[in-house]
Amino acid sequence: MQLQEKYTLLINGEHVESSNGAWFDTYNPATGEVIAKVAKATREDVDKAVAAARKALEGKWGRFSAARRSQLLNKIAGIMRSRFDELCELEILNSGKSLSNAQGQVMQAIEDFELYAAAALAHEGRTKPVPNGFFNYTVKEPSGVCAQIVPWNYPFMMAAWKIAPALAAGCTVILKPASLTPITAIVLADICHEAGLPEGVLNVITGSGADVGAYLVEHPGVDKVAFTGETTTGKDIMARASKTLKRVTLELGGKSPNLVFEDADFDAAIDGALFGIYYNTGQSCEARSRLFVQESIYDQFVEAFVEKAKQLVMGDPLDKKTHIGAIISEQQVEVIDSYVQSAIEDGARVVYGGKRPEGPQFAKGHWYMPTVIVDVENHMKVAQEEIFGPVIVIVKFKDEKEAVQLANDTIYGLAASIWTKDFGRAHRVAGQLKAGIVMINNPFSAFPGLPFGGYKQSGFGRELAMESLDLYTETKSVLAYIGEKPINPFGLK
Ligand code: NDP
Repeated sequence: MQLQEKYTLLINGEHVESSNGAWFDTYNPATGEVIAKVAKATREDVDKAVAAARKALEGKWGRFSAARRSQLLNKIAGIMRSRFDELCELEILNSGKSLSNAQGQVMQAIEDFELYAAAALAHEGRTKPVPNGFFNYTVKEPSGVCAQIVPWNYPFMMAAWKIAPALAAGCTVILKPASLTPITAIVLADICHEAGLPEGVLNVITGSGADVGAYLVEHPGVDKVAFTGETTTGKDIMARASKTLKRVTLELGGKSPNLVFEDADFDAAIDGALFGIYYNTGQSCEARSRLFVQESIYDQFVEAFVEKAKQLVMGDPLDKKTHIGAIISEQQVEVIDSYVQSAIEDGARVVYGGKRPEGPQFAKGHWYMPTVIVDVENHMKVAQEEIFGPVIVIVKFKDEKEAVQLANDTIYGLAASIWTKDFGRAHRVAGQLKAGIVMINNPFSAFPGLPFGGYKQSGFGRELAMESLDLYTETKSVLAYIGEKPINPFGLK
């Protein structure tokens, strides 16, 4: 595995240092050690990247047929496959996630490129006869130069979710990875160039989101902004982008519910609920962090949930037996702990975890135990705000009506899981939940080809599906007159 000492910006197909020669360190969250230096971009670098993306759009790339873009995306996927183990290892070193998590996410990134390779060919406009000698057709044209800004929790997969549809649609890109996890996005861009992507089509800018990220969002040379990250950042981005009315898609935070009815398959619901919250160490936008359990099975469910949570293995992310990896940073550990403390102050009870794990293997790096909190009321901060860590709150409900009301009582609306054997109830409740993604009797939320995105303050726009391809295009409507008699709308002689 090739970990470089330094990672540079990628502008116009070339690796370059930042214009002022500044660098920042990037870390391994599982050890706290510096693993590489990364170029810290300036606004001048952003200007160069935007200019390169504009030039590429108007140059050779603009003349690439959909078939050629499709071939390229498949080639990128092929190189990713051939470097699968290395990509997983790099992702683990920079994010602290477990091997099984990294493997699933890198595989999904590959499948995203394959999906959009096919979608590029299938994406087309429509024709429409219009009465009185007119004929109309629509053309899907690329949105143009796209700023894509991604977070630290799924660094490689999020970059793939954004880059693949943009390239399929024929856009050009300036990608801004999170400062905590820049490495695999840079490697992905290298792979794209190795596959033959023309220079300037995909540029990578690393550095401060508040500085160069915000500057990029406001840049008059950018046509569209696609952002994944916190809801507060999303609001700031939307305001900045509005100055030039850029197209915006926002994939933001969540506080997703998991509803377990008394008739559910008990064991499956326990295993699904554990996965729903502790996957990726709880650092997931779609984490089912609010568990609502019907009162008749509540005590039994909490007990079984805690017993199984104790079986989860936390530790060396590279060990294939590990379920729970590291937390991204010490600052994030402190955020998680402060939410747990606020729950205790509000009268809730921690029945498992609620602290950093003990043992020599946790002496270095950033860790937090899987945590279970009960006696929670839905208005409490711990039940309303996104924690982004391995913390679940369990709340009792009486009946279906109350379950739906509690589940929807949040500013967010990303995902929701329902556990019941009653077919009618499952779909009735699915229809009432204000969430972009609803899972019935399973915890899995993201598959290539299925739309992913939120209601309410979880954002808007969709990723992973044909919908996202539409969001990287403008629809042009062309109206042709094909009648025999020349048109004379004013009836002039
Ligand atoms: P942030 O919003 O803090 O950062 C996300 C990205 O935005 C980073 O690249 C960051 O750069 C950049 N950024 C920060 N401030 C600005 C700004 N003012 N203008 C432009 N760019 C900026 O989120 P996190 O990295 O903390 O990621 C976690 C969040 O992402 C969670 O809320 C989670 O729910 C959400 N998320 C949503 C998903 C979804 O699909 N709905 C999927 C995955 C995560 P820098 O790192 O340099 O600060």
